[in-house]
Amino acid sequence: MNIHEYQAKTMLSNFGVSIPRGGLAYSPEQAAYRARDIGGKLWAVKAQVHTGGRGKAGGVKICENEDEVLAAADAMFGKRLITDQTGPDGKMIYRVYVEGCVEIEREFYLAFVLDRAAERVTVVSSAAGGMEIEEIAADQPDSIVRTFIEPAVGMRDFQAREIAFNLGIPAPQISKAVEAILGSYRAFRNFDASMVEINPLALTRDGDIVALDAKMTFDSNALFRHAEISELRDKSQEDARESQAADRGLSYVGLDGRIGCIVNGAGLAMATMDMIELSDGKPANFLDIGGGATPERVAKAFKLVRSDDNVEAILVNIFAGINRCDWVAEGIVQTLQNDPVDVPVVVRLAGNNVDGGRQVLEQSGLPIIHAETLSEAAQRVVEAWTNSKQSDDKARAS
Ligand code: ADP
Ligand code: MG
Repeated sequence: MNIHEYQAKTMLSNFGVSIPRGGLAYSPEQAAYRARDIGGKLWAVKAQVHTGGRGKAGGVKICENEDEVLAAADAMFGKRLITDQTGPDGKMIYRVYVEGCVEIEREFYLAFVLDRAAERVTVVSSAAGGMEIEEIAADQPDSIVRTFIEPAVGMRDFQAREIAFNLGIPAPQISKAVEAILGSYRAFRNFDASMVEINPLALTRDGDIVALDAKMTFDSNALFRHAEISELRDKSQEDARESQAADRGLSYVGLDGRIGCIVNGAGLAMATMDMIELSDGKPANFLDIGGGATPERVAKAFKLVRSDDNVEAILVNIFAGINRCDWVAEGIVQTLQNDPVDVPVVVRLAGNNVDGGRQVLEQSGLPIIHAETLSEAAQRVVEAWTNSKQSDDKARAS
């Protein structure tokens, strides 16, 4: 789960990381009021959307007076900010953060991530801050330093000092930088974060070390023990279908093809999508109904997959281990009887009690297309989709 910049900054400042003075606004007038309250001569008006790269996309505006703050905020509210990370739809701006500007001497990159291969929390730092890490990796890969943290002892002071020295932070600011690095690490660890990214961490003209941007991502599986983090969730920033699915205990991933996939298990989902692509089709999404493919879950899955207008054919691919194919088949039949679909449906069942399952489907009299194997299922769904498109085109032409 992601949170907004202003939320991450508040959290990091509670752990001793310096941040500029700032305030949140839900309207242009409130933004101007915030600027007055913060004081100073220069302000940054920053769109609060779950994405990086806002600066380049017009989501960060530097303003010289309250009128400019008001106008900058007014131009942002209710618009969708499209960055190179959001995809073409962008993300809606409902909140802006107004912040006092600092005079930047140098910008650094600092992030904490989990390196699964090393099984360690890893600090990624670079003296080439300000640009996105992908750009740093392409332009100045040698500037990136990785520091591994021993899980048994946590981050040590000497490691933070070493990072600060490597970044080239001047001697008088080393202890401030160390405080920021250790503070970010404690925030990462205490809240089960999967990422903390400060880009840029700035050395200011007047010799301060401040976080000018902050991004935090949390491990959803650990949210149950951090109610205060769960509260920060902002559904307006999530794909509506993905959050609807998550609320129903299903995992949904939206893609841009035309074939909807209902499967159980992430591995089977990947294999199913690969097979569809091999048969020259493209998946519109995949919905993983998980272990318990009960009739209720099957019904919910169909509803979600069909709510996507792009879906022009559906492939159900279930491998029943603990489940029973006949129960899954009953779920499919009940769902389609109560709520018929107008696109071709291909079903491939395998595993426990598969004969019973097939019988249920056959006896239902529904126009379900059967498939024995995964490759047959993929071919059939692509075929059925192509045929239904052709007959649609003919109907339109006549
Ligand atoms: P993003 O990474 O989404 O583009 P940032 O918060 O990093 O957004 O802002 C982009 C750039 O704007 C920063 O790299 C920094 O140079 C500048 N900036 C942001 N906030 C401030 C601030 N308070 N004072 C001065 N410069 C700022
Ligand atoms: Mg940034």
